[in-house]
Amino acid sequence: MCIFCDIIRHEIPSKVVYEDDQVLAILDISQVTKGHTLVMPKKHVENLLECDDETAARLIQVVKKLAVQIQERTGAAAINILNNNGEIAGQTVNHLHFHIIPRYNENDAFV
Ligand code: 5GP
Ligand code: ZN
Repeated sequence: MCIFCDIIRHEIPSKVVYEDDQVLAILDISQVTKGHTLVMPKKHVENLLECDDETAARLIQVVKKLAVQIQERTGAAAINILNNNGEIAGQTVNHLHFHIIPRYNENDAFV
């Protein structure tokens, strides 16, 4: 069982930022800063190291596009794009995802 697969199937509610046939982007339930977004492939892949190149390429295209849009919409000064691979590296949900975290000033908390 995978919580992000449940979200992708819309069995668990989420705030959808973007959706197409291969990719879903949602607001993180625990917003590090306003607009903190998670971008994931609809296909269940454990992490980036396990991901096929085609899925990874498609995912990063969407991540980049959304990062630009989120920066414009939020007026953030800068953006972090983060990806954790493995528990020791901070991965808590074992379904590949990128964090897009808008940064408003240097005092914003870091993950
Ligand atoms: P990780 O630590 O694996 O890189 O990030 C997992 C992220 O998923 C965390 O930032 C956490 O807040 C978020 N998250 C966990 N469960 C849910 C959920 O049910 N809904 C949403 N929207 N985000 C979740
Ligand atoms: Zn999954």
